[in-house]
Amino acid sequence: KSLIRATAQKLTDADQLIDSVETFIFDCDGVIWKGDKLIDGVPETLDMLREKGKRLVFVTNNSTKSRKQYGKKFETLGLNVGEEEIFASSFAAAAYLKSIDFPKDKKVYVVGEDGILKELELAGYQYLGGPDDGGKKIELTPGFMMEQDKSVGAVVVGFDRYFNYYKVQYATLCIRENPGCLFIATNRDAVTHLTDAQEWAGGGSMVGAILGSTQREPLVVGKPSTFMMDYLANEFGIQKSQICMVGDRLDTDILFGQNGGCKTLLVLSGVTSLSMLQNPSNAIQPDFYTNKISDFLSLRAA
Ligand code: PLP
Ligand code: CA
Repeated sequence: KSLIRATAQKLTDADQLIDSVETFIFDCDGVIWKGDKLIDGVPETLDMLREKGKRLVFVTNNSTKSRKQYGKKFETLGLNVGEEEIFASSFAAAAYLKSIDFPKDKKVYVVGEDGILKELELAGYQYLGGPDDGGKKIELTPGFMMEQDKSVGAVVVGFDRYFNYYKVQYATLCIRENPGCLFIATNRDAVTHLTDAQEWAGGGSMVGAILGSTQREPLVVGKPSTFMMDYLANEFGIQKSQICMVGDRLDTDILFGQNGGCKTLLVLSGVTSLSMLQNPSNAIQPDFYTNKISDFLSLRAA
């Protein structure tokens, strides 16, 4: 196999791509929706793919919601998507722990929001931490020590708008002092578009703080790591060569597809512009690119 990839081709014949795979994995933000707004033409496109018998799977690195909470979001947007078709990095964290038979008598310390807590609970794990942990200034009187629960066997870190120093210290103690304690990151997105007005520090910033203090590399369960790809391919019994990964981000989505040996399609409806794709410093080239997924409806042979 050649290590040099051809530059991405502009999608011209959608039918050819659609006919060449059985499954489409769609990234969510930037492909299906932008924040809380549905992207134009998405319902019709998904309906057409389902009518053609394609399996549809939805993957997001945003760990703030659980599978069930994303199910509601899809419903609110008028999309007919089942919970079992949704793979969020919150779910991936719990699924990873299950996959390694993480002992039920050990606890998980969570730096993150509700989605991770909900998924751990559903998987039957005991956890502590979460959004409300800490938050007050730590008063350093002589001899003061923070105690941590010695039964914490894994620290899961995701995007957390309540992030604070207490959490960093607690996670650091667990990882450094509890023998064999795992350091799991839901994702490492550098920045994200929480609002359309600017870029905001992403999940990678919380992970980076704890990496800084522990000097340990986390195990990433979200994109671009292959954990979710292997998991869903196994769950649905699909061959990765029969998948097309559709995403708006090169270093998460397109790399995720390429790491899995899938076909890849970049859409320009999210964070990546055509000039970023074509910039000589960009080494990640999808197989195809197009403006948005509803181009599937227009770019068809007559
Ligand atoms: N992380 C956070 C906190 C986000 O808000 C988003 C997008 O909204 C993402 C990650 C990326 O999500 P996706 O993988 O669906 O593009
Ligand atoms: Ca995205």
